[in-house]
Amino acid sequence: MAKRHHVLRLAESYSEAFLEKIDSEPVGNRAGVEELRRRLGGSLSDSGEEDAQVLEDVIAAASEGLVASSGPRYFGFVVGGALPAAVAADWLVSVWDQCAGMAILSPAAAVIEEVAGSWIRNLLRLPDACTYAFVTGGQAANTLGIACAREDRLSRLDWDVGVRGMVGSPPVPVIASTERHATLNRSLRLLGFGDASVIEVSCDSEGRMAVAELERALSSVETGRAIVCAQAGNVNSGAFDEFSAISSLTRAYGAWLHVDGAFGLWAAASPRLADLVRGVDQADSWAVDMHKWLNVPYDCGAIFCRHRESHLASMRLDSAPYLNSDDSGGRNAAEWGFESSRRARAIPVYVALRALGRDGIASLIDRCCVLALRFAERLSAGGATIGNDVVLNQVLASFGSDDQTQRVVSSVQADPALWAGGTYWHGRSWLRLSVSNWRTREEDIDLAADAILRVWREPSALPDPH
Ligand SMILES: *Cc1c(COP(=O)(O)O)cnc(C)c1O
Repeated sequence: MAKRHHVLRLAESYSEAFLEKIDSEPVGNRAGVEELRRRLGGSLSDSGEEDAQVLEDVIAAASEGLVASSGPRYFGFVVGGALPAAVAADWLVSVWDQCAGMAILSPAAAVIEEVAGSWIRNLLRLPDACTYAFVTGGQAANTLGIACAREDRLSRLDWDVGVRGMVGSPPVPVIASTERHATLNRSLRLLGFGDASVIEVSCDSEGRMAVAELERALSSVETGRAIVCAQAGNVNSGAFDEFSAISSLTRAYGAWLHVDGAFGLWAAASPRLADLVRGVDQADSWAVDMHKWLNVPYDCGAIFCRHRESHLASMRLDSAPYLNSDDSGGRNAAEWGFESSRRARAIPVYVALRALGRDGIASLIDRCCVLALRFAERLSAGGATIGNDVVLNQVLASFGSDDQTQRVVSSVQADPALWAGGTYWHGRSWLRLSVSNWRTREEDIDLAADAILRVWREPSALPDPH
């Protein structure tokens, strides 16, 4: 038996070494897709291979194709690093291999999830009575939140969407800003809302929904019908929609307010930043990621809903008799989300919350924002143009013409010192920087800012990536 589990020790010692040196390794991948196909492909053996040998081979073949996105100088997209305690908890999730859909399958997973959900709800200053579900991420959370909204809107019109579907249903207009996240339309499509059912509201220069225009949109549709999707944390600027004003309007017009707060909703957990989300607790549903700013491993997000009955009805499961055997008294996760069998992904959340505590969470969020400001100041002092008001953890920088900026983006991506993405926003190209990792320190920002300014000023200074 001991021998059969030896492979776990191999993973453990490798993992420790990998994470110990993640600060000093090149951030981008060194091997490309073709090379990795060559190393990892081929035909599958008939007889199988020895466990430890397979693991060693995979590590050797994959290493150069890994991106140090959990390291301190990865600033692409919005990607958090994983806290060591959360990684260890994630190992336990696999070792325990609990099926977290029903309490009878794992009372421990059910109770941990229940507690983690209530802690997050409280940290994010959401109403105590909100129901919740842990899902794979922000996209899934938005989908579920809008499913709750759809259920609520149509049931008020005596249309049981679970029975009758969307074909021929009374129209439910969706109002969202032009700067909604790219995945929101896909969530809507999955729920039977075509792109054409979206009424777009324009935004101000920071990407915040224009409130007067929202009011015009609400007054153009029937009262009590609409779903409004607002945003906490614009993926480019980090800006927040004005929830106090927006929620007053949605209340007045009987609209459902869904908030995509994938990363930005975490501002609520910091006393220093909580003002940015003032009024957000007046919404009807909220989507938030755990794998971005809470720094737990992929994949994990959550949805919260003010309306228990709509949430339950939207996810109802017409149970097979064998599924009805749960009299454990525990919370059945499968009643609140659209997965039935799934990993116990709330365990790393629970462990991360306990390891950080309220102050640790607030300082994780604050620190990233302070570092983002430092990034902007250093780049600006070096002659770059900063394109957004840095209110959160996102920074947009440009370096002259669009061509020059795009050249800086490519050069940065070839520089082993850091990684950052590019974007096109408000008619211009930008280098887009997101600071979302517990590992990132001032030295990392200074080193990264110097590297960016160097590839801009001295294009030939770029080290050869290969
Ligand atoms: C990342 C993000 C999403 C999608 O979340 P995933 O976790 O990638 O599924 C949605 N909205 C916003 C604002 C995001 O930043």
